[in-house]
Amino acid sequence: MNFIFLGPPGAGKGTLAAQVAEEYGIPHISTGDIFRAAIKNQTPLGVKVKAIIDAGGLVSDEITCELVDERLKKDDCKKGFILDGFPRTIPQAEALEKICPDVQVVNFEVNNDLIIARLSNRRVCKSCGQNYNVKFLPPKTEGICDKCGGELYTRDDDKLESITHRLEVYREQTEPLINFYRNINKLTDIDSARDSSLVLVDFKKLFPAK
Ligand code: AMP
Repeated sequence: MNFIFLGPPGAGKGTLAAQVAEEYGIPHISTGDIFRAAIKNQTPLGVKVKAIIDAGGLVSDEITCELVDERLKKDDCKKGFILDGFPRTIPQAEALEKICPDVQVVNFEVNNDLIIARLSNRRVCKSCGQNYNVKFLPPKTEGICDKCGGELYTRDDDKLESITHRLEVYREQTEPLINFYRNINKLTDIDSARDSSLVLVDFKKLFPAK
């Protein structure tokens, strides 16, 4: 099963994707995580995209589509995959339709106030990438990852100016994908303004593992 998780930043796509990946045995492919790893390792790609990402803008369709095309060719995608954060523009969705039209698109619905509360309180582990939220899902020890003991940090693009810009970019460039996929009967809505364990229960009912 091939899934696209569509929704604004802070909708809970990454959290659900990590759980689904484990339960369904398919890879969780987050273009944001791939870019952040490239930035951390100071690769040529990372150097190119750092300023855009920190400001909350979008990396070009050309760079992003090439990266996803390469990733989907890997063996671990044969059984299926979850794309989290891709596509984010109509040209990206059109490109993906050519590479892999057999997809189920899950549209994460959540209101603006909750998005801001989630993003501004989000902390991420520097070592393993696990997400926390100091309000809704705090780690057992402040500043330390429960899973690996790594240090938790605030993403540069989770600062308030960037959050506002990312939401504008989402509304302008990504939200049109909802109709794009609805019109071709690939879209399923999910209420993600709830605890992630409840969202997972709904997801498993909608898409039973094969
Ligand atoms: P995310 O972790 O999905 O919130 O992504 C973090 C940042 O990476 C975004 O704000 C963009 O700057 C960049 N990014 C991730 N995925 C894409 C994409 N599909 N197209 C363009 N830029 C992206």
